[in-house]
Amino acid sequence: MESYNPYTGKVLRRFKPHSAAQVERMLAQADKTFQEWRRTTFQERAQVLHRAAELLRERQDELARIMALEMGKPVIDGRAEAQKCALTCDFYAEHAEQMLRDEPVQTEARRSYIAHQPLGAVLAVMPWNFPLWQVVRFAAPALMAGNVGLLKHASNVPQCALALEKIFQDAGLPQGGFRTLLLESKAVEPLIADDRVRAVTLTGSEGAGSQVAAAAGRYIKKTVLELGGSDAFVVLADADLELAAKTAAQARMINAGQSCIAAKRFVVEKSVSAEFIDRMREHLKAFQAGDPLEEQTQYGPLARPDLADDLAQQVQKSVAAGAKVVLQGGQPKAGSARFAPVMLTNVKPGMPAYDEETFGPVASILVARDEQQAIRLANDSRFGLGAAVWTRDEERGQRVARELEAGAVFVNALVKSSPEMPFGGVKKSGYGRELSHLGIKEFVNQKSIWVA
Ligand code: NAP
Repeated sequence: MESYNPYTGKVLRRFKPHSAAQVERMLAQADKTFQEWRRTTFQERAQVLHRAAELLRERQDELARIMALEMGKPVIDGRAEAQKCALTCDFYAEHAEQMLRDEPVQTEARRSYIAHQPLGAVLAVMPWNFPLWQVVRFAAPALMAGNVGLLKHASNVPQCALALEKIFQDAGLPQGGFRTLLLESKAVEPLIADDRVRAVTLTGSEGAGSQVAAAAGRYIKKTVLELGGSDAFVVLADADLELAAKTAAQARMINAGQSCIAAKRFVVEKSVSAEFIDRMREHLKAFQAGDPLEEQTQYGPLARPDLADDLAQQVQKSVAAGAKVVLQGGQPKAGSARFAPVMLTNVKPGMPAYDEETFGPVASILVARDEQQAIRLANDSRFGLGAAVWTRDEERGQRVARELEAGAVFVNALVKSSPEMPFGGVKKSGYGRELSHLGIKEFVNQKSIWVA
């Protein structure tokens, strides 16, 4: 497994995957730790999570540097990611007890209620794009609920995975409470088959989600899937056009475009489309590319050269099928991880820019006749993760929000996750929810207790 710097093209370190014997030891340890951890009080767990939050804040520079080197995230964004992880550890440390308290239910019994109890070891298969956040979003609620975590991180971010394991250990989590397994994806199914693994959560692509969920189905294990997205950013004619265009550029450029909830399709009402395109193009051009280790860099390279090659192919095929380039960016040469923003118009069904997720800075503009057609175009996607709608009429915004097929819709704002609100998708974007009180209840036994 390689830790590879996409900005310099240099291999930083190589890691040998864990052997079968090492994996067996970690599974045994996780199982043993679970028997103790599940009996700890919420206060004891909260102490560990609050300490993990402190460590995330104390180590934010070092963590940002590792992310910059391993997957090209600018350090300024890396520090923000570490801080958000800390906030989420604190959030669950403070609220888990109340979220998981017994729920009384009126029945014919003398007393009946729902208790929420941990399941055991939860396997997390995670992607490289927010290498800390994706993991903490799963780990903080899982650990507070009394579960233990096993992490199979993406193969290109082993140092991030090990740094997180160390944070939880240094925070006082018992050995085996959270372990990083350095494994290739083919080693995931045997893990799912193991009785000591009780549930699986995957954040990643549709293909990986489908394969992991199929394996989990074979062994009757609960799954949560957080998959891809092709979020629509709907701009109605009565929107604040300058603010919408500026936010559109930001929404497309999150993490150099490599975010599941980055806006990817910009659906604009015809009467304002020309002006919107001009304004958004100017904002995209203003983004500063550079070395992710430099403070002023706003976007770095994509995480791996092959990802940039794939994205360039999607653009090329779309253009060959009739899409028009209104901002010429892309790769400087094949095999480079660098990729400047591209804007396409005349994007139609059958083109990759319309049908597929574009995981990098490529903005597709779709022009709609009116509100109804805008909603239809926004919903004409296999995915349903997030969406945004822009209008000066707040009531109209909420009405359109209800029409959009997505797990979250933001009115006059950029789609983002926060610990208080549930996060997840519909359609091929997956199922289940992370964050909020819903997230922590995904991996618990919701037990009915009946006292006659
Ligand atoms: P990916 O290739 O699917 O990889 C994600 C994880 O799954 C990695 O750990 C990968 O391991 C593993 N994996 C891949 N194929 C597998 C298989 N057949 N069996 C078991 N594990 C397998 O995705 P990615 O390229 O890292 O991430 C980009 C995708 O993630 C995009 O589609 C993006 O939208 C989605 N995403 C979704 C969310 C969300 O919350 N909904 C958030 C972030 C990203 P290896 O690295 O070893 O292959």
